[in-house]
Amino acid sequence: MQPTTKFRKSSPIPLLFILAPFLVVLVSYVLYHATTLPSIQLPEIIPAVPLHSVTSYVNYSLAELRLSEAVRIPTISKRFDEFTSDDLEHLKRFRGFLEREFPTVRNALNWEIVGGHSLLLSWKGSEGVDTNLPILFCAHQDVVGVDNPGDWDFPPFSGAIKGGFIHGRGTLDVKGMLISQLVAVEALLKAGYRPKRSFYLAFGHDEETIASEGSKALRNLFIERRLRFKFILDEGLPISNRMFPGIEAPLALIGVAEKGMMQLHIRARSSGGHGSMPFSDNAVHMLSKAVSRVADIKPKATLADGPIGDLLQSLAPEHPWLLARAVLGSSFLAEHLVRILPAKVSPGLAAMTRTTLATTQIRGGLGGNVLPNDATASVNCRIRPGETAEEVLHYVAKAIGALIVDADQRGSNDTAFSPLTIWYNCDGPRGCDPSPVSSSNTEAYRVLAGSIRHVYDNALVAPSLLMGATDAATYKVVSDNIYRFQPIRLWPQDVARIHGLNERIATKDLHDMIGFFITVILNADNM
Ligand SMILES: [Zn+2]
Repeated sequence: MQPTTKFRKSSPIPLLFILAPFLVVLVSYVLYHATTLPSIQLPEIIPAVPLHSVTSYVNYSLAELRLSEAVRIPTISKRFDEFTSDDLEHLKRFRGFLEREFPTVRNALNWEIVGGHSLLLSWKGSEGVDTNLPILFCAHQDVVGVDNPGDWDFPPFSGAIKGGFIHGRGTLDVKGMLISQLVAVEALLKAGYRPKRSFYLAFGHDEETIASEGSKALRNLFIERRLRFKFILDEGLPISNRMFPGIEAPLALIGVAEKGMMQLHIRARSSGGHGSMPFSDNAVHMLSKAVSRVADIKPKATLADGPIGDLLQSLAPEHPWLLARAVLGSSFLAEHLVRILPAKVSPGLAAMTRTTLATTQIRGGLGGNVLPNDATASVNCRIRPGETAEEVLHYVAKAIGALIVDADQRGSNDTAFSPLTIWYNCDGPRGCDPSPVSSSNTEAYRVLAGSIRHVYDNALVAPSLLMGATDAATYKVVSDNIYRFQPIRLWPQDVARIHGLNERIATKDLHDMIGFFITVILNADNM
């Protein structure tokens, strides 16, 4: 029997004929849109005072020597309660070195020691801080340690100047920027420049620790003095080369937000026993299952709440590939791309658009023949804008079936009825949540972008998201406009030098960074 018309399978051909005109119109529209995308790069801002009239006061060879000497003082970061007398001596020496090397700045600016070892330098403008909000530049005096000094091409605390580079720990992170800021202010003072607006320089002493006591003390001082800043510029993203396939021009990324950072702790407990009779619960087995479930969690990828949508929109008109322009330039297509693109295809983009969970430590077991009754794991969580630490804690706890406990309850017998517990602690002043997202549609952002485009001829500028944490996160209560940017040209192979082996800065980058800070000060004073 023939099926009735009602149930006959319809042929796809007529359907295609019906849809074809719509598809043609849609594809034509997307391609037309892609080919006519206008550039949204901001124009360069030329300082009112000619740059060379100030840079003529910069002694670039001396600036290199000063950075070299700064590197030779090993101000290795520690928690405040772990500083040895040697460490404190190094910090003291570093402060003494700055005062000795920059007498012009020392005499013209107010120098204060804050929180024991951090420095706050205030350059008073001719107008009050209430009528003309001041600007804050940040850097830090401390550096991370070195595990394997013998593997370095040049000893890590030698500050060797060779082959167009200054070598050593802290050159990139971030003594190069600290010295550049001071040289820029020194040159402006020598050129007789007197700002209308006040400028502050804050140099923390333990930025590389979560405790970051220096930034906490500085922030408290700003609050006490009712200081608010027009904008804050801290270390952050670089001028990257070839980080995005197809984009040949250097790309200056201004970090307008940073991801949150939380360490989750998972603990499994069981009754234990002898290894010869492994039939009771085993804490390591329980913990392994929990850790494996954490690895299976797929946090949502989205462009909705962070700055990455704006980054892609900035890149779209500059991209040479039509398909890339079409996808990146359409928020609809770009959103779907980040949702379906496997993280392995573009780990960088994946990390920028979602919360990431990485189990980094695991401990448990007492002996080879003892069934473990207690095991713990730590999960490093980097939280995207739009999510909070509490939300992440809850969905991880649900996925592994763990009881959420307070950090101070973790060893308590009250929780003994649950074999699996989870908690986090958030001690530092930055908190665990992602920072607020500063707008890229402000006068302050335009001044930064315009100054970058003045100093770095062909650079594109775009807002982006910082994966790591900076002192800037501590200062969110004293400014709405917090930007994280360090003008160093970084190639993909150089990224590992930061906190890693053979850290170095190109002398040209140091020179240009001085020009950048002079330009920003002049342009920001004219806002
Ligand atoms: Zn740093």
